[in-house]
Amino acid sequence: MKILTTIEELRDIRKKINSSIGFVPTMGALHDGHISLIKKAREENKIVIVSIFVNPTQFLPGEDLDAYPRKDEADKKICNMCKVDYLFMPQISSMYTENEIKVKAPNTSYVLEGFSRPGHFDGVLQIVLKLFGLVLPTNAYFGKKDAQQLSLITQMVKDFFLPINIIPCEIVRETDGLALSSRNVYLNKKQREDALLISKSLYAAATLIAKEQRDVEIIKDKIYDIMQKLEVEYVAIVDREFNEVSKIDLNNTIILIVARFGNTRLLDNIWL
Ligand code: AMP
Repeated sequence: MKILTTIEELRDIRKKINSSIGFVPTMGALHDGHISLIKKAREENKIVIVSIFVNPTQFLPGEDLDAYPRKDEADKKICNMCKVDYLFMPQISSMYTENEIKVKAPNTSYVLEGFSRPGHFDGVLQIVLKLFGLVLPTNAYFGKKDAQQLSLITQMVKDFFLPINIIPCEIVRETDGLALSSRNVYLNKKQREDALLISKSLYAAATLIAKEQRDVEIIKDKIYDIMQKLEVEYVAIVDREFNEVSKIDLNNTIILIVARFGNTRLLDNIWL
């Protein structure tokens, strides 16, 4: 594996590649969720490129940019073990200039995460577009855990006619059900136990739906009931365009939950 830290190095390497490229953009502190994306990229492409970049423009003022876990050495080992060909770890100063052109997420995205974190998706799209321009991948891999992010990136590729396939990847969980996240390290023991109620309530919702329940209010009641003791930011049952629905459609529904544990926000969801 080769580690690339400058844009020039990446560009030089990219010019010489004529085969399929699978790209996995991340913010590092890699866990099994990231690894599942990398493995899928490894299976489906000749060359695999991973980026690690804690992107400042997607953090709002007061968010955890400075505290965000950084584990560069461990991440390099993981990428090496996963047979990544190139690991791109650029400096912030090389990725951004002053007064540059900005990508703007559509107004329709200012719901759920877009509402809670206004401007977050603008930053995500900005950096992903830049990384796509540098890596020019054939396939790019994103987790369904960040459901709105995945949807917006898919839309950006379509709207800007980018010749890149966006590959959605399933959510990877701890054996007890907690969705893996780099932010799980912020949780203390009690919060880590309580956080299990999120996936528990999603499983309970799935069980109700398997028993033919289609009424969204009844399903939400069940979810809130299980999460009673948590600080729930939102529970949303939406279609693939993130419009709230009143009836479950088995082919077109996502149930999303965000709960807070002190300063830590945890997201989870299931796609029906
Ligand atoms: P991040 O480093 O948090 O920006 O995430 C990089 C990529 O990994 C994104 O596409 C995420 O959706 C994905 N990802 C994060 N956690 C998980 C998980 N538990 N399962 C699957 N993919 C994930």
